[in-house]
Amino acid sequence: ISSKLPDVGTNIFTYIGKLAHQHNAVNLSQGFPNFSPDPKLLQLVDKALKGGHNQYAPMQGTFTLREIISEKIKTLYGKTYHPESEITITAGATQAIFTAISTFVRQDDEVIVLKPAYDCYEPAIELFGAKVVPVQLEGPDYKIDWNTFKSAIGPKTKMVIINTPHNPTGTIWSENDMLQLQEILKDTNIILLSDEVYEHIVFDGKAHQSVSKFPDLATRSIVCSSFGKTFHVTGWKVGYCIAPKSLMEEFQKVHQFNVFCVNHPTQKALTEYLKTPGHYLDLNAFYQKKRDYFLEAVKGSKFEMIPSAGTYFQLLDYSKITNEGDTDFAERLIKENKLASIPVSVFNLNNRDDKQLRFCFAKTDDVLDQAAEILNGI
Ligand code: PMP
Ligand code: GLN
Repeated sequence: ISSKLPDVGTNIFTYIGKLAHQHNAVNLSQGFPNFSPDPKLLQLVDKALKGGHNQYAPMQGTFTLREIISEKIKTLYGKTYHPESEITITAGATQAIFTAISTFVRQDDEVIVLKPAYDCYEPAIELFGAKVVPVQLEGPDYKIDWNTFKSAIGPKTKMVIINTPHNPTGTIWSENDMLQLQEILKDTNIILLSDEVYEHIVFDGKAHQSVSKFPDLATRSIVCSSFGKTFHVTGWKVGYCIAPKSLMEEFQKVHQFNVFCVNHPTQKALTEYLKTPGHYLDLNAFYQKKRDYFLEAVKGSKFEMIPSAGTYFQLLDYSKITNEGDTDFAERLIKENKLASIPVSVFNLNNRDDKQLRFCFAKTDDVLDQAAEILNGI
């Protein structure tokens, strides 16, 4: 069979997850919490199931959930997205991203992707016959060089994809970054796809810079969010997408034939849950504590690190330990030391010699302790 994605194999999360399981390794690889969501939220799902919300939801998602998301965005970022025409509930951010790319990206278009990048953007771009134009962010701080970014823009640039807080590096963009981006895109028709799934996981008193706060960015943007990260329910695969009406109309044309709608009882439960204001605002402190716990526990190790500024990922640099490539080292850590992480090179360009591993610290302290003990012994 002639593959539409000849260079794509089984993704890293499936591969490493399986290897971790085979070797009974402590698993800090794929990003998901090992603890339960709020019991109140689970009760609300139970209530929704028993209350008869077991048939199709409306195509765009339930109106009440869209309404409450609209209020939340207005409160946090000061912009009104109309629930009837500018918000769609999606099957996680993954579907929102795939649908957005398939809606707007055509054959021979160019899409700018900042590397390293989360792994679901590029295959979607390639599936629709467009070209990925990578812009490299250099470690250890992964700041963007705006001149390099500017020179990557050309007449064929259809879309730019950004992600703050950033997976896998744990960096966040400042207000100044957003203003620079706004200025560069000012006189173009470029669509911005903003992956903000970690919007509620930002540390050290900093604020998340949503594109919705910047009027000239918001008018050209599709923003993707995920309840999975915010409420410790990655397995529910429920998220949402917001965009101005003209973009959202096009998005929904595809969405309705992609999934039509997403699961109904969790939408009901999330609506009720979101009526109690504020719980997502505790998430920054909750995960900052975990980050600090993990960093403190590994500070005597030979790994080097810059504290993560957001997300639930921490990069550890192992260049003082070995010269091995990161995939080899990650595999060896699983097989010999029983600890699983994700090699950063899978998010990066092929020829990069990354010496960093990504660890997910959305874990209970006992698991972080086990991981730290292994890391300290290396
Ligand atoms: N974007 C980023 C940056 C992610 O880390 C993830 C992974 N969880 C997603 C999108 C996908 O989110 P979801 O699980 O809601 O599909
Ligand atoms: N976003 C999570 C991560 O980066 C999980 C991704 C996935 O399972 N596809 O680890």
